[in-house]
Amino acid sequence: MEVIMKTSVIGFPRIGTLRELKFASEKYFRKEIEVKELLHTAELLRKEHWAKQKNTGINYISSNDFSFYDMVLDTAVLLGIIPNRYKELHLSELDTYFAMARGYQGDFGDVKALAMKKWFNTNYHYIVPEIDDNVSIKLSGNKIWNEYAEAKEQGIETKPVVIGAYTMLKLCRYTGKQSAENYVEAMIKAYRELIEKCEENQISWIQFDEPSLVQDMNKKDIELFHKIYDNLLTSIKTSKVLLQTYFGDIRDVYLDLIKMPFAGIGLDFIEGKETYNLIKEYGFPKDKLLFAGLINGKNIWKNHYEETLKILSSLKDKEIQTVLSTSCSLLHVPYTLNHEEKLSQDYLSYFSFAEEKLVELKELSILANDNDYHKNDLYQRNTALFARDRKCDNDEVKNRLAGIIENDYIRLPIRSERQSVQKKALGLPEFPTTTIGSFPQTKDVKANRSAFRRSEISKQEYVAFNQKKIAECVKWQEEIGLDVLVHGEYERNDMAEYFGEALGGFLFTEKAWVQSYGTRCVKPPIIWGDVYREKPITVEWSTYAQSLTQKIMKGMLTGPVTILNWSFPREDISIKESISQIALAIRDEVLDLEASKIKVIQIDEAALREKLPLRKSDWYTEYLDFAIPAFRLTHSGVKPETQIHTHMCYSEFTDIISAIDDMDADVITFEASRSDLQILDSLRENNFETEVGPGVYDIHSPRVPSIEEIVNAINIMLTKINKDKLWINPDCGLKTRAIPETNASLKNMVKATKQIRSKS
Ligand code: GLN
Ligand code: ZN
Repeated sequence: MEVIMKTSVIGFPRIGTLRELKFASEKYFRKEIEVKELLHTAELLRKEHWAKQKNTGINYISSNDFSFYDMVLDTAVLLGIIPNRYKELHLSELDTYFAMARGYQGDFGDVKALAMKKWFNTNYHYIVPEIDDNVSIKLSGNKIWNEYAEAKEQGIETKPVVIGAYTMLKLCRYTGKQSAENYVEAMIKAYRELIEKCEENQISWIQFDEPSLVQDMNKKDIELFHKIYDNLLTSIKTSKVLLQTYFGDIRDVYLDLIKMPFAGIGLDFIEGKETYNLIKEYGFPKDKLLFAGLINGKNIWKNHYEETLKILSSLKDKEIQTVLSTSCSLLHVPYTLNHEEKLSQDYLSYFSFAEEKLVELKELSILANDNDYHKNDLYQRNTALFARDRKCDNDEVKNRLAGIIENDYIRLPIRSERQSVQKKALGLPEFPTTTIGSFPQTKDVKANRSAFRRSEISKQEYVAFNQKKIAECVKWQEEIGLDVLVHGEYERNDMAEYFGEALGGFLFTEKAWVQSYGTRCVKPPIIWGDVYREKPITVEWSTYAQSLTQKIMKGMLTGPVTILNWSFPREDISIKESISQIALAIRDEVLDLEASKIKVIQIDEAALREKLPLRKSDWYTEYLDFAIPAFRLTHSGVKPETQIHTHMCYSEFTDIISAIDDMDADVITFEASRSDLQILDSLRENNFETEVGPGVYDIHSPRVPSIEEIVNAINIMLTKINKDKLWINPDCGLKTRAIPETNASLKNMVKATKQIRSKS
């Protein structure tokens, strides 16, 4: 009898269907609950997630995919990578962990959080482990074994998952005299002990996640990879290693990899453009399991069974032992369609979230073993769905897009001329101070929005409340002494979702949360059809705010690239086409703001860098060549004196600096405080023309920066940036912060700026 095709899940979301972990953690941070209660919530969630997978019939279920904050930080702790400044706080293990993630300011000391970066090409952020010369890598901690045992007690055999040694070496930041090479041996030793301990615990499969293998690898990288795994695999006795990759293909190392004694290799067939070709061309060893990532772990559309089955059957023809898998961890999709009560079944029938993807895995594994699958009901239902017209086209949008000409991408006059025009028109002081847009989203702000959403209050009441908040915010900013004000974004839940809701072509969900970092979740909209703007979106809020002050009020929009990147995109038209449609909609809004006398307009492109292809060779052709022009399309129609700002989260764009300058914004603000200010050197080297506001303090943590600290940061910036190009601002929006720390931080920022001005 034929063996039934098995199924595997790389990782399951952990925040809870209704964000239970988020709420419990935040209560714990506010000291409203004891640690026991937090641990209990976590345990219940893990149990539920394992049971769900087991009950759907998944064969390879992960453990240790749970995390209180981030799986890279978990792995760092597992390897003993904890800088002394956190140990010296002498907190409990869990609180030390949270101090690394969020910073700590309290009775035992004052330390900043570790840096945070985007996880490959996703909107998930990981904590960057830091290795200074005092760190010695050593297997420590019990999380992985405890969670394995916990699942086992529940009758579920799991495969513990850990970030692999190669990826860990690549992701760590080395702040001492030593570099990655100096830690290879210690790293190998720690992973060897890890494997030994797995064997002691009679764990049959261990999953090492090595997403760094999908990036460009040179000869040295390949040698490093060999060195690590040749070493680890020779000592292995009873456990089996699944080498799991995702977010792309592993063309640089495929031939090496298949010759190494891994028991299983996990490849991504969704984002891995070359995955299938590699197998076709070089084969796949018969003695290993291929974990074929065919169920998209990043998007929410139903799997097209016909296409997947074609690939599965061709793998079968090649006599490859295949396990059907997700393409990456399901961390990047929401939990379940079950809580979506507003969207009609017509829409929902096209979607598949984490739980539904489990069912898809199961159904496909059944169909893959059914020689007559064409007649199978499961197959027929799926095929019928894909044959249906989704009715999502809009001719007007298509025609407008077809009419765009080259000049529509060019703003005139050139920026250097605009800069002097704007200096005169806006009359701002030296080193203008501003913020990134949002102000604290306190309970009342959220309550007002949700009451309106649930029709508990009228539109008038809703608007009146927000206007009151705006008025307070304007007054507050004037008191603080900021130069360019914002309205505070109280009407917005999330910067992409807010615009999605206002634009035609988008669908939105009620509970489809996805973890972004730590306890922060986002609810990405779904791009269902052609996108267009029905009516002005932000104009009323911005003009109201402007009417309250003599100072300049900055309009606040989200750019097309970010809206697309933070939504679940269509799979039936190209990303380029979708981005251009959104760009035209935002252009309409920009022009309306300008016509309403808003003189400064910020178009956030927080997520621009995020979707940069992981391989350099694809950067321009598959992304920047259309993403940057799309941004220019949004603002090329404004007058010279209208100042266009943009904002990007994370300063990791040293390598695409000229593309960023090419967005042709007048000012860009970005995160710099949590990185090493390296970006500033690149700005100078590249004669960066856009005025810049590198964030002078970190808003991702409640810590209040001192005046002195900010003065120092500005002074460093001034050694690299021309003084008439420097803006002073925090590194991101303030929505996640509380009022007291925001007030203290911004006041310190303004005082620091005044000190600098008085000396310049
Ligand atoms: N304007 C947005 C805000 O201030 C930008 C957020 C972001 O960059 N993520 O919240
Ligand atoms: Zn930001």
